[in-house]
Amino acid sequence: MTSVGAGPAVRTVYWIRQVHGATVLAVPTAGRHAASRMVPGRPVEPVFAGTGDALVAVAPSVALAVLTADCASVALGSPEGIFAAVHAGWRGLAAGVIAGAVGAMRSRGATEVVGALGPCIHAECYEFAEDDLACVAAVLGTRARGRTGEGNPALDIPAAVSSALVSCGAAEVAGLDRCTACAGGYFSHRRRADAGRQALLVWSGDSRTAAAPSGPGFR
Ligand SMILES: [Zn+2]
Repeated sequence: MTSVGAGPAVRTVYWIRQVHGATVLAVPTAGRHAASRMVPGRPVEPVFAGTGDALVAVAPSVALAVLTADCASVALGSPEGIFAAVHAGWRGLAAGVIAGAVGAMRSRGATEVVGALGPCIHAECYEFAEDDLACVAAVLGTRARGRTGEGNPALDIPAAVSSALVSCGAAEVAGLDRCTACAGGYFSHRRRADAGRQALLVWSGDSRTAAAPSGPGFR
């Protein structure tokens, strides 16, 4: 957890009711383009932002949260300090949630958008019936076609996320390359029907201390 660096402490975490769609919600924007820092042990106020599957902010002192248990979480950032958190399962990917979030960032002044993928189910563990896979791949692109460890048809969520980022001109940077179903230590809805969820928090950190280039705090 990065806590050093300049800028105000994060005081508020926005969260959303996720529905596997493509609605992007912008949080209140008092103040712009200041780096923030997450301080371990310091309480933050959770604020419900509404129903949707992506959050965009330009404000300092806030973090954005999405919850997942096999779906992809994606952190987006830009040099301007505009950032987003995205919940993206196959339905959301097909609906264009990543393009929607990148577009919302650009409409607020973001130039070079970068994205990092969090833990999600990987193709090795995400078997799909061939007919269903054909329908999904027709929307997400052929890169979304994968194989399970046994060689059966599978959906490749990380590849679909990469394709979505590329297709809207965003650059992918290193995230957390873990399969929630088999890596251990993660919640998986599909493998174990876990009730718990991983949380991805994104805030506009100091680029000298953030884990990913150009600003998004990725933890
Ligand atoms: Zn796996």
